[in-house]
Amino acid sequence: FNDNEYLEQMVRELRENGTHVVAGCLDEVINWGRSNSLWPLTFATSCCGIEFMAVGAARYDFARFGFEVARASPRQADFIMVAGTITHKMAPVLRRLYDQMADPKYVIAVGGCAISGGPFKKSYHVVNGVDRILPVDVYIPGCPPRPEAMLYGLMQLQRKVKLQRFFGGVNRQIGREEYERLLR
Ligand code: SF4
Repeated sequence: FNDNEYLEQMVRELRENGTHVVAGCLDEVINWGRSNSLWPLTFATSCCGIEFMAVGAARYDFARFGFEVARASPRQADFIMVAGTITHKMAPVLRRLYDQMADPKYVIAVGGCAISGGPFKKSYHVVNGVDRILPVDVYIPGCPPRPEAMLYGLMQLQRKVKLQRFFGGVNRQIGREEYERLLR
């Protein structure tokens, strides 16, 4: 679709299907805005965090995709990049930060440590995966993942956001056809 064809199809569907399509259009417009303006919480505990900083710098420049406004306050952030090792002492702090974020909110587990404990898996003090304390939306494997992998993971989060539905029922399911159209 080019933009005109897309708009024409929307108008056609609006005439034919009425309110259901209006709800769908609202979702799409809002999700288009949300997915292109996702603000990360500034959160890093070790080496993966250093790699994440490279993603924000000029060479990889995640500002191109709308992620540039890293926030120091969980109340202003849309998602957490858990970049680094999470110890049992750190876990309640991470959970509290997550709880302070407004809905809808997302979590990305970056690197082996955040995904499963990584090289410190057998240590007594390391959480073996942040999905034990937070609902993780995207996993980015590596030790550390390369900046390209992080960008790919961030784009997967954008796709996930675009597929969410709030009108016409909270997170209503979408059909295969709509799913494929949104991913085009
Ligand atoms: Fe460091 Fe590797 Fe753990 Fe990332 S996954 S925090 S690079 S040890």
